[in-house]
Amino acid sequence: MYKCNLCGSDDLIPLIDFGNHPVVKHYLNNLSTPSPKSYPVKLYFCEDCGLTQLVDSCPPEVIYDNYVTLSAWKFQPQVQHEIDVVKSMLDISLNQKIIEIGSNDGEFLLQMSENGFTNTLGIEPAKDAYDLSVAKGIKTLNVYLNPQSSCDIINQYGQFDLLISRQNLEHMSDLSGVANSIQALVKTAGYVLIEVPNFACNLRCKDYALWEEHVNYFTIDTLRYFLGQAGVEIIHEEIFQFSGEGIFVIGRKVTDASQTLSYVPALRDQNVKYATEWPQFQSAFREFLLSYKRAGKKIAVYGAGARVFCLINFTGIAEFIDVIVDDQLEKQDKFMPGGKIPIKPSSALYLEDIDLCLLGVNTENEEKVIGKHTKWVDKGGAFWSVLPPSDRLLKIWGNSEV
Ligand SMILES: [Zn+2]
Repeated sequence: MYKCNLCGSDDLIPLIDFGNHPVVKHYLNNLSTPSPKSYPVKLYFCEDCGLTQLVDSCPPEVIYDNYVTLSAWKFQPQVQHEIDVVKSMLDISLNQKIIEIGSNDGEFLLQMSENGFTNTLGIEPAKDAYDLSVAKGIKTLNVYLNPQSSCDIINQYGQFDLLISRQNLEHMSDLSGVANSIQALVKTAGYVLIEVPNFACNLRCKDYALWEEHVNYFTIDTLRYFLGQAGVEIIHEEIFQFSGEGIFVIGRKVTDASQTLSYVPALRDQNVKYATEWPQFQSAFREFLLSYKRAGKKIAVYGAGARVFCLINFTGIAEFIDVIVDDQLEKQDKFMPGGKIPIKPSSALYLEDIDLCLLGVNTENEEKVIGKHTKWVDKGGAFWSVLPPSDRLLKIWGNSEV
């Protein structure tokens, strides 16, 4: 029996069982390394609040004790825009109190301070990310957010004018505890800035590249419901392209946040359709790559990232992939966990006579990757994407010529 991360209901229905898989950022140093432990990846839907979520997933301490996915590694074009929105639309002055939960290596708060904000505090549980944040001069606490730590923070610093949470609510299984903490930490009429991945994009684009670290899959409706539990009403919302799609909202703490669940039946239908289409998608993907291999062609994947690793493991296509290429030095000469595919620099496209390269990078970075390898394309190499919402997706997504 599972309980909903958001509303606590036990009325959860199973959507997709992706099987058991290792944590994708635990790269293997060599093929004789024992396989890391696998954990279930099971997607469920809450009939009461409509939150799609993983149940029974990998314990947080396995993922977060040392967290090597640092935010500065990722190209985040949305950051300055978000800060501009905060500056332009809010009656917030540069010296008001700001707290960021899950502040990672402090990059966002650093950019806030470069924009003139002087009174910021970061909360970051992962020791390696915390150390980097402190080294940048960002005031940071090395704690998990929970009712006790929130209470301690309020006792020491008081309540805050603005609370920031970017790309971390999707990682937290105790959402009702987080809602209580947000409500406690933010002053009445204070603001929140929230960014989460947009699961509506997955539903719309048949995007099954979920990530075991993401236990919650929000749409704007379930995010609004969550914020309502924290006493926060959304006053500004945007959808943007980042690692799929993201939702960016500004909310304001009110005394009577409205709550509706009228979106649940339509969202349920979309989730059920998404789940129903999975087996067919999986077999079509395998068939396509198998036919390519039977024709004697070689296949690479570009990008040693979490989403594409999960997609490879969930669909079981590792046997068809000759190599993963990535120009980030830290990832090279290692092997992908699960599929055990070697990771090499992108020169492997040329050296290994690759015919087809599946783009496993975020859509916003595809042009740059292709631009670096025009010589390979001139030789007859073909780039196609496997991560929505790209317009270069393979035809198994129903919209390309390949
Ligand atoms: Zn629920």
